[in-house]
Amino acid sequence: MYALLACLRPRYSLPSISLPMNAALEQLVTLQAIDLELKRLRDQLAEAPKRVATAEAAKKQAEASLAATQASLAKEDALRRRHESDIADHRNKIARLKRQLDAATSTQQVAAYEREIAFGNDSIGKLEEEELYSMERTETLDAELVSHTKTLEAAQAALERARANSATLVERNKPAIMALDAERTKVRADLAASDASAAPLATYDRVSKGKGTGISEAIDHKCSACQMMVRPQRWNDLTGREHANDLYTCETCGRLLFWDPRRDTPGPWPPGERLAQTKAATTQ
Ligand SMILES: [Zn+2]
Repeated sequence: MYALLACLRPRYSLPSISLPMNAALEQLVTLQAIDLELKRLRDQLAEAPKRVATAEAAKKQAEASLAATQASLAKEDALRRRHESDIADHRNKIARLKRQLDAATSTQQVAAYEREIAFGNDSIGKLEEEELYSMERTETLDAELVSHTKTLEAAQAALERARANSATLVERNKPAIMALDAERTKVRADLAASDASAAPLATYDRVSKGKGTGISEAIDHKCSACQMMVRPQRWNDLTGREHANDLYTCETCGRLLFWDPRRDTPGPWPPGERLAQTKAATTQ
């Protein structure tokens, strides 16, 4: 059990020293570590497709922005081609009018051709000005195109990463969940088998259903889950050896309380024993 506990998160690494801890509590600590790890692994599995969906949406958005810029560029190109063609028409017309002007026989005709030629030149000037504005807009759009292309490339890479991460998570978490589920079934069966531990298991289930956890370590006169003080009498009962088989709940949050005596007695261990503990813990 201790080896299992050591590899779980949150970690309760209990080295094998004799604890005046109720056996049911000890199993519930294990059960909670398993339940929390199962939740973490399942949450990761549930989160992965959401990340992929977010990355897909970001890629679609980037594609849409790029397409919009490309469409605007095409529109500007078409506009300039139209202007070029209009300018060519005007120039042809002016050339024709100039020939007609040379052949004109009356001052009235001359005035009429000159007006038309002036009108043609005016129109060419306006179209050339429009072309310049279009060139300026195209310059801005070209810069946008570069930026949108980079954004799309990054979004594509992010999507591929999200998909790969999702696949890795499924590959890693599914067997881990199956193994922990089996362990959980075993621990629960052990707890349910005895009258002494079936009741605390029921308390654990009831409280953890509402609060996420059902058992909490009492540290320094406080419940470490809700941070509320444990009354002095209850603290004495909880930490006293004569009450090792009694179960206490936090009066504020209702979680079962357990107390790890090593927290309050780190001093008296002989140095040799302490070194052995450390070695055992690091070679596990
Ligand atoms: Zn509490």
